[in-house]
Amino acid sequence: MSDGNGILGGGVFFERRRSAATSNRRKWVKTREKWLVVLGIVLHAVYMLSIFDIYFKTPIVHGMDPVFPRFSAPAKRLVFIVADGLRADKFFEPDSEGNFRAPFLRSVIKEQGRWGVSHARPPTESRPGHVAIIAGFYEDPSAVLKGWKANPVEFDSVFNRSRHTFSYGSPDIVPIFCGALPHSTWNTYPPEFEDFATDASFLDEWSFDQFQSLLHKSNEKKEMRHLLEQDNLVVFLHLLGCDSNGHAHRPFSSIYLNNVKVVDSIAERVYNLVQGYFEDSLTAYIFTADHGMSDKGSHGDAHPSNTDTPLVVWGAGVKTPRPSSSNHSHCGFRFVDNHLHDALTPTEWGLDGIERVDVNQADIAPLMSTLLGLPCPVNSVGALPLGYLDLSQAEEVEALLANTKQILNQFLQKSQIKQSHSLYFKPFKPLLHYSSILDRIEELIQTRDYQGAMKLSENLRDLALEGLHYFQTYDWMMLMTVVTLGYIGWMVYIVIHVLQSYASLPGNIATKEQNAHQGKSSMKVYLFGCFFMGVFSLLLLVDRSPPLYHAYIAMTVFLWTRILTEYEFVKALWRTLCMKRSNDIIKLLASCVLSILILEFLVNSFTERRLYTWCFLIAGAVAPFYLSLLFPGRLAIKAFVWGACWCLSIFTLMPSEIPDNTKLVVASGPLIILIGVAARWQGLHIEVNEYWYSILKLDYRPKFPMLLALQVFLVGLSSLMVFLSTTHRTEKQELPVLHQLINWSIAGSSMVLPLFSAPNLLVRLTSIFLGFAPSYLLLSIGYEAVFYATLALVLMAWILFENAILYLSKVNGSSTSEHEDRSLRLSDVRVPLTFMVLFNVAFFGTGNFASIASFEISSVYRFVTIFSPFFMAALLIFKLFIPFMLVICVFSSITKLIGLPQLGCYFLVILFSDVMTIHFFFLVRNTGSWMEIGNSISHFGIMSAQVCDTLDFKIIRLLCLKRSISPDKLLDQLWHGKYYLQTPFLLAPDDHENAECCSCKRVRIPSCGPGDLGSNPATPEHLLG
Ligand SMILES: [Zn+2]
Ligand SMILES: [Zn+2]
Repeated sequence: MSDGNGILGGGVFFERRRSAATSNRRKWVKTREKWLVVLGIVLHAVYMLSIFDIYFKTPIVHGMDPVFPRFSAPAKRLVFIVADGLRADKFFEPDSEGNFRAPFLRSVIKEQGRWGVSHARPPTESRPGHVAIIAGFYEDPSAVLKGWKANPVEFDSVFNRSRHTFSYGSPDIVPIFCGALPHSTWNTYPPEFEDFATDASFLDEWSFDQFQSLLHKSNEKKEMRHLLEQDNLVVFLHLLGCDSNGHAHRPFSSIYLNNVKVVDSIAERVYNLVQGYFEDSLTAYIFTADHGMSDKGSHGDAHPSNTDTPLVVWGAGVKTPRPSSSNHSHCGFRFVDNHLHDALTPTEWGLDGIERVDVNQADIAPLMSTLLGLPCPVNSVGALPLGYLDLSQAEEVEALLANTKQILNQFLQKSQIKQSHSLYFKPFKPLLHYSSILDRIEELIQTRDYQGAMKLSENLRDLALEGLHYFQTYDWMMLMTVVTLGYIGWMVYIVIHVLQSYASLPGNIATKEQNAHQGKSSMKVYLFGCFFMGVFSLLLLVDRSPPLYHAYIAMTVFLWTRILTEYEFVKALWRTLCMKRSNDIIKLLASCVLSILILEFLVNSFTERRLYTWCFLIAGAVAPFYLSLLFPGRLAIKAFVWGACWCLSIFTLMPSEIPDNTKLVVASGPLIILIGVAARWQGLHIEVNEYWYSILKLDYRPKFPMLLALQVFLVGLSSLMVFLSTTHRTEKQELPVLHQLINWSIAGSSMVLPLFSAPNLLVRLTSIFLGFAPSYLLLSIGYEAVFYATLALVLMAWILFENAILYLSKVNGSSTSEHEDRSLRLSDVRVPLTFMVLFNVAFFGTGNFASIASFEISSVYRFVTIFSPFFMAALLIFKLFIPFMLVICVFSSITKLIGLPQLGCYFLVILFSDVMTIHFFFLVRNTGSWMEIGNSISHFGIMSAQVCDTLDFKIIRLLCLKRSISPDKLLDQLWHGKYYLQTPFLLAPDDHENAECCSCKRVRIPSCGPGDLGSNPATPEHLLG
């Protein structure tokens, strides 16, 4: 096709001038697109890293001095027992016969100690739980990324402050705290012991036995005996039994419940052993758990069954039970797990009459330190629970003050580090005069006003905690603003690019735009940008910010500088917009709002796939209605659109874990054949008219008349093979090699067949649909096979809908003939938006993110019987890919059908995807179960990757287009073959020329040509559709 053959038409006079200008312009657009693609990939990669600087930063600082409490230690040693995975209700409640499972610890609660519920912060996992209890802070979840076993950062702990720590338990927990501790004696069982198949309570016995033999041995070893008689000792017994049994048998099982009894008996035996050995009643005891266990036998999230753990404290320095005054204060205080302070004690626990003191998990660390008279761990954020301590008022104040000073020290250290780095430092205002508050507290202690001192200390501690949070999120505002501005800049830049390259604009805009990119004024802007970047870099250097900060800011400044170079264009655009009728402006705004609504809908669909049901119910009602407004008659088409949409709406109501239903898979074979044959029959028997012509194009000569029959046969055969293979499996027989071979050859051969189909839209799409059906059927286990057929119907409905609109515009004479390409209009936005909805439903129609992770082996066994995870995963990914591919094919053919510039459409898809990326960026979270944290990151990651993928696709295209210029026929053929693979829409040979230039053909010279509306700038309707 010659250059002059576009929408511009044009007289002979302009021809020569224009072709020169066009080729220049084409080159320019191509270069810019390549460059945009690279920029886009770098930008998304860099911004993806930003979430680690924003959401996942370690709360730990170093260099604080420990604060020694100014009173004598109430206890000489501490015995500390953690029952891993013991949830509070299973511990406190009676069994069905009314017997309590932990008789010893209950007697402690009733007679000699204190109790409560310890609230864990999600992720409720073993490592964060133990770190919170023993070191007093909530570990940053990203510590996991840096390795579970080793300590990603050095932190202080109660064990660290002790004279000596004896520790026995799991190899996953004990070494975290004792591995690098010189003053510790510890031992762990080999990891093989944690075998889930057996009753794991013997692990608890193992820990107890170790401790018992230590005491026995010390009777012979003098040094050991001497050590044990010292003060500031900690004995830590980690009991893994409940966790292992909970995972393996769930917390309702008799094995788990029996393990609660084991744990209680160990507590009793330890108590008797220690009391007998030391005979001095100077031992304090703490019994708790790191997290609970959900009914399903897992832990991690914020459900109360996971966050609520028992806490029982008794012995030296601990208050004795006090009758409950039912003084649950309705102060609205929330624990770290967001549960309310005034949660009532269930009556079946039988502990109503005894005062309960709930704590945050990290509060246990200062409690342990205070009992031993040690300074709190320097990184602790725990608030000392005074309700447990049996101290005089003066001592209570001193203990609280030590706790307050330790948290204040952390705050001051963080504040100082930030201040020493910052040029412009914003201090945490409420604590500017902290020293005067401290002086006031000392004064009050001198005058023995302990109540007043207590109150002031508590206030100061709360402020210090707030201050810590303030510095933890100090850079958030800046980083989030920079990254968001960067994304917005990128989107604005894409909009400008699409407008300049794919929309037809009034002439005056284009002239200015051309001037701009020729670089007369842009030099100044670039200098300006460089200056800005230099200033920012300098500021960041002075602030000693991480190197990535430079990258975030560089990206953002760079993008906005580029946008500024288009200043003249934007200004002209704005002027044109201002001249428009308000009607057009409203249209533009309405389109924007509608687009954002649809994108927000897509964002929400990531967590709630049922939304698609509503979406397609509404689409099924609205689309036919809209069509009947446009052109009456043709009831069949409207009924088809309605039916297809409503059918598809059912699938997102079905379970995401696809239940086995072989009959359904077998039955989908004939269904798919029916759809394929019906489509072809339509092509041959429909009355030829304007409407059908564009999608049927009846003048083709089929090269292979038997192709359809062959494809139908293969689909039928695959249906049969599904039946045969499954029967074999249900009879517990090995799948014969012959079956596997047949399955492989059916799937392989049928995917090649679409290449031989006739080059018209309906025939080729039907052929692709039939070609991938056998592979999909053979990989299906249930309703997803029907989904494949239904999705195809909806895609067909989409084509019919777009064709109706095209037909109408032709009838009204507002459109050029079919093969001529036009520029983008505002109303064309519906095509990329529909594409995005369908692209997502192609995934969510049969599952969600969790359902990919759960590996369903039965869906691949028709191809492989030997277990090989990578190969099986590859097959599953291929299966996921098939519906996507159908959607992409239809999208490409629709852009072709209505003559839209395909690359322009892809840029719009990127633009819309980035609206979603921004939203997911703000939805990233750093608390919750690993699953929730992981999902929030992966949603953001998937969106970024989707954009990069689309961009990759464009790189390939741009490269291909370049190569195709070669006149060599053989190479051309080769390329043609490649092109089939790379762009799923299979172009007809006679359209080949067309395809070569599809990126450049849309480029116009808006300044000339009578067909262009630029000649009439007063009413540039093209711009606003
Ligand atoms: Zn655990
Ligand atoms: Zn566990």
